[in-house]
Amino acid sequence: MVEPDDPPRKEGPPPPCPICGKPAVPAFRPFCSGRCADVDLQRWLSGRYAIPTGEQGPGDDDPEA
Ligand SMILES: [Zn+2]
Repeated sequence: MVEPDDPPRKEGPPPPCPICGKPAVPAFRPFCSGRCADVDLQRWLSGRYAIPTGEQGPGDDDPEA
């Protein structure tokens, strides 16, 4: 009789980089590189904050008023 000693289950293969699909690197999880992490950060920021394009709505804020 062998006791089913639960072996320490490893988390299997790490999920691929959500940006490019390459294997993720622990240092940059869940990304494969700092560049992909930066890409995701930019996406996140652009989704959360409006990108300052320098354009303002017409008549929205007229400094000469
Ligand atoms: Zn990547």
